[in-house]
Amino acid sequence: MINSKEFRKHAHQFVDWMADYYENIESYPVKSQVKPGDIYNQIPENAPQDSESIPDIFKDFEDIIMPGMTHWQHPHFHAYFNGNASFPSILAEMLTSTLGAQCMIWDTSPAAAELEEKMMNWLREMIGLPNFFHGVIQDTASTATLVAFLTAREQSTNYEINQKGFSGNENFRIYCSKEAHSSIDKGVKIAGFGLENLVHIPTDQNLALKPEALETAIKNDLEAGRKPTCVVAAIGTTGTTAIDPLEEIARICQKYKIWLHVDAAYFGSALVLPENRWMIKGIEMADSFVFNPHKWMFTNFDCSAYYVKDKEALLKTFEILPEYLKTKSRGQVNDYRDWGIQLGRRFRALKLWFVIRNFGVQGIKEKIKLHIDLTQEFARRLEKHPDFEILVPVHLNLVCFRFKPQQITNEKEINDINEKLLQLANDTGNVFLTHTKIGGQYALRMLFGQTYVEKRHMENVWELLLKLIKQL
Ligand SMILES: *Cc1c(COP(=O)(O)O)cnc(C)c1O
Repeated sequence: MINSKEFRKHAHQFVDWMADYYENIESYPVKSQVKPGDIYNQIPENAPQDSESIPDIFKDFEDIIMPGMTHWQHPHFHAYFNGNASFPSILAEMLTSTLGAQCMIWDTSPAAAELEEKMMNWLREMIGLPNFFHGVIQDTASTATLVAFLTAREQSTNYEINQKGFSGNENFRIYCSKEAHSSIDKGVKIAGFGLENLVHIPTDQNLALKPEALETAIKNDLEAGRKPTCVVAAIGTTGTTAIDPLEEIARICQKYKIWLHVDAAYFGSALVLPENRWMIKGIEMADSFVFNPHKWMFTNFDCSAYYVKDKEALLKTFEILPEYLKTKSRGQVNDYRDWGIQLGRRFRALKLWFVIRNFGVQGIKEKIKLHIDLTQEFARRLEKHPDFEILVPVHLNLVCFRFKPQQITNEKEINDINEKLLQLANDTGNVFLTHTKIGGQYALRMLFGQTYVEKRHMENVWELLLKLIKQL
C-alpha cells in the first residue's frame, strides 16, 4: 500500500490526467463502443493476494476501463438528461473524499450539517421557492419521491402504518400523468401502496396532465371508499419535458386534502431564471418539491435537493433514536439521518458551495440561458428545413423531432428511418443522442445541457444530421 509521500506524487499525476481529460474530451467517442462482457472478461477472476502498484492499476484503468466509459461530460452528450460535473464541483469532491467524513448527524461533522442547511436555503432562494420550505439533500430524485410518499402516507394515517404495518385493507391512491417518471412506479411499489393503486391520468396534446381527469379520478376513488393520498406533478417529464399545470392541480389537492409532490428533477435548475418561474406558479400550495443539481446545475452526481413544507411530518416519519446515537445537541441542530432513508451520508453540500460560489448565481444563470438559446436556435433550423418535423412544443433545452421526407408517408417506414438515423449518428462516436416514442412516433431527443457545450457544438451536430440524412 502506498504512503502519503507516494500518494502526493500520484495525486499530482492524476490531477494532470484530469485536466488533460477535459482538454481532450472531444477526442473520445461520446458513447462507449464496447460489447456486453468486454470489460468483465478482462478483469481477473479473483482479487489479488499481494499489493499491486498504483501505476499498474492506473494502466489498466486507461486500457480496460476507459474504453468502457460513456463520456457524460463530453459537450456532444445530448442524450437522456445530462448529469453535469464542473471544475469547482470536482475540486470539492476531491476534498470530500479526502476528509472521508460520514455526516449522518450534526455531531459527526457540524460543518456538513450547517453548510447543508445554508446551501438548501441558498438554492431555495435561487430558484424562487417560498421560504417556508425546508430543504435537505437526498441522493437522488427517486429517493426524494419515495420520501414524499412515505411522509404523505404517515401524515394521512396519524403515523399508523409505521407503527402497526398495513392491515391489508388500505387503498392509498397515488396519481400522476401517463408521462411521469418511472421512479414514481418504483416508489409506489416500495412504499407498499401497490402498483394497482397508481392512477395514470390522461394527458393533453402537449402531454401535460389533464386536471379535469385528475379530479374525476379522485372523485371516483372517494366514492369507491379508496383513499387519495398523493399527487405527483411533473415539471418537465423525462420523455418530452411536458409541464403539468401546477396551479390547477394544486387547487384540486387542496380541495381534497391530498399531498402534492412536485417532480422538477431536471427543469428545477432552470428556475434560476425568473422568466421560467411560470412553470411553478402555485408552488406555495405544494407539500414537497424535488430537483437535481446533479443534472443541470453543474454539481457532480449525487446531489438531489428535496424541499418539504411540513418538516415535522417528515421527521416523525423517519426519526429513529437508538441509544448509541443520542447526543446532547439533539433538538438544537439538524440531524439529517432523520430527514430521509439512509443513516450514513456523504458531505454533499461542499460541492454545491464550491459550484455556487465559483460560478456565482449570475454565472449559473448565463450557462442555463446559453443552453436554452442553443436549443431554440437548433429548433429554428429544424423548423426551416422541409424534411424535419418537431413533434412536441420545445421547452427550454430539449427538442423532440424526426426526419420526415415529404415523399414518405408510411408511419412505420418513417419510424424505421429515424431509428436508423439515431444509430448512424451514435455510431460516428461524435455525438450521443437517445429517443422516445410520442403517440407511436419514433422521436429523436436532442438536448443541449452539458456544462461546457458551446455554439459550435450545436452547429456541428446540425451539420452531421444534414450529412447523415443523405445516407438514409
Ligand atoms: C431524472 C429524473 C428522475 C430520477 O432522477 P434520479 O435522481 O436519477 O433518481 C425523476 N424524475 C424526473 C422528471 C427525472 O427527469
